[in-house]
Amino acid sequence: MAFFKKKRPYIRITPPRVLGEEKKDVVPSIPDDLFLKCPGCQKVFQKESLTELKECPYCHYGYRLTAFERIKLICDEGSFKELFTEVSGKNPLEFPGYEEKVKRLEKSTGLHEAVVTGYCTIERKKVAFGVMDSNFLMGSMGQVVGEKITRLFELATKEKLPVVLYCASGGARMQEGIFSLMQMAKVSQSVKRHSNAGLFYLSFLTDPTTGGVTASFAMEGDLIVAEPKALIGFAGRRVIEKTLGEKLPANFQQAEFLLEHGFVDQIISRKEQKSRLSLLLSLHGVREEIHGE
Ligand SMILES: [Zn+2]
Repeated sequence: MAFFKKKRPYIRITPPRVLGEEKKDVVPSIPDDLFLKCPGCQKVFQKESLTELKECPYCHYGYRLTAFERIKLICDEGSFKELFTEVSGKNPLEFPGYEEKVKRLEKSTGLHEAVVTGYCTIERKKVAFGVMDSNFLMGSMGQVVGEKITRLFELATKEKLPVVLYCASGGARMQEGIFSLMQMAKVSQSVKRHSNAGLFYLSFLTDPTTGGVTASFAMEGDLIVAEPKALIGFAGRRVIEKTLGEKLPANFQQAEFLLEHGFVDQIISRKEQKSRLSLLLSLHGVREEIHGE
């Protein structure tokens, strides 16, 4: 009876698929953007629980805001007046495709380069106000960014105004090479002249503030404040670890670590920023405008 016991090879018959027909998933797929993982505390949460200030509900890490979202958050309503949009840049190294890229970004973001500069009032106190935007070539500092910030400080010196500057940058703009690095010295000189005139400069570091911006005006404020868990540093972790040949602490480029080690004076979450800035301006002798502009 061996014939009947012999196992026959199992043949699996699958229905023929019609060419071009898509495979149907049995389980409905989960959308990719339903959950977020906070870069600050690594906790996972539903995108819905992101606060309206775009902060992590656990650690107040601030997700990136555009320059105009920031202006809306900090400046008194309708008080912001943009300046220096006439400044234009060149392509000094004739970097291929650079000019087209800048034009494309200006169109898609509605920004004039990676920094927005102007006047505004914060709880009726007039300040020269600047915001860098990391959505524009990672907020990198080229000739236009350097020139606009320099003009902002020169104007503030002339009109005896304090400067509040929100920094967010990946550093110097590689497409402009040495011309980009020169902006560090140029802006620093105008910061120094503003300081010599006895005027107040508050530098606000947001995620991320790195490279040449950290190595110049971001760290030259009379007061340096930061957002919770913001990444602040000069070179990247890997570069430093390889240079030093040692392992660095996990959070060594986070705002909290820098506060502990004296590089940052205060950490302020978004909800409190406007009122705290107003208080800090008052403590530095900035008065409320009576008539307004
Ligand atoms: Zn978090």
